[in-house]
Amino acid sequence: MEISNTSVGNVLTRTSGYLRTITSHSLQPYRGCPLGNSLCGVGCYVQHNPYVTQGRRWGSFLEVRTNAADSYRATAAREARWARRHREGFSIFLSSSTEPFPPQEKRYGITRQVLEAMVEQPPEEVPDELILQTHSPRVTEVAELLRALARRCRLRVHLSIETDRPKLPGLPPPASTIAQRFAAAAQLKEAGLATVITVAPLLPLEDPESFFSRVAEAADAVVLDHFIGGDGSSTGSRTRRTRLPAAMEEVQPASSELGYRDAMVRIAQRHLPGKVGVGIDGFAGRFLA
Ligand code: SF4
Repeated sequence: MEISNTSVGNVLTRTSGYLRTITSHSLQPYRGCPLGNSLCGVGCYVQHNPYVTQGRRWGSFLEVRTNAADSYRATAAREARWARRHREGFSIFLSSSTEPFPPQEKRYGITRQVLEAMVEQPPEEVPDELILQTHSPRVTEVAELLRALARRCRLRVHLSIETDRPKLPGLPPPASTIAQRFAAAAQLKEAGLATVITVAPLLPLEDPESFFSRVAEAADAVVLDHFIGGDGSSTGSRTRRTRLPAAMEEVQPASSELGYRDAMVRIAQRHLPGKVGVGIDGFAGRFLA
């Protein structure tokens, strides 16, 4: 793993494409992702972004944006004004191209510093909405900070749990166990934080009834997203270039088609009525009736 320190000009990126209807900005405390070597990295759409990878293998590098919090303080006022004028408010997706709580966060604390900056800024520089998207149970280490922030803005924590299977054939294991992530979600929910489990991308479930029952206990809502439509291509062509679809089909042949997602959505709706989101709408907090 090649780790380097870098500076970023403006840590608040105005969203386009898939993210545009979800938030006005995205924020990446790091560039690259050490979880790229784990299960979620196999189909991770960021690996197909040459601007991010610059030819490097996904999972082999991490750039630590050491000035991320300072950049937030310097640019939040301007970006908030722009977002409130041109978008539906100032909202931030943290993060869409990296993991905000990689193992290295313990040492560098970049995400923590950014959250502290948000808590400390004057009200007009605090986002109207913050969506914290993570694969890591380490998010619980900033639970107190998140509670402080939740008093200042609409805050949702999205924690990814893509399957109830500990392993898919031929693929690396996840960076943290399913049990660890369920426990983290339950802890956040218990702390009064709006907690959403994102089943994204949806991988074959061994026991969907039990899985969604467990989700309903540990979280306030669930979002299901299939790699078809969810990987930035309309047909899932990006993910089809990876090993993920073949591994999914080996376990459950139909799981690489959209019909599988729809069948799982119906089961999820029985366990979380009114609290099931699909794809982009789900990430934006728009749930099925
Ligand atoms: S944690 Fe997110 S950014 Fe990192 S490899 Fe997994 S899906 Fe990609």
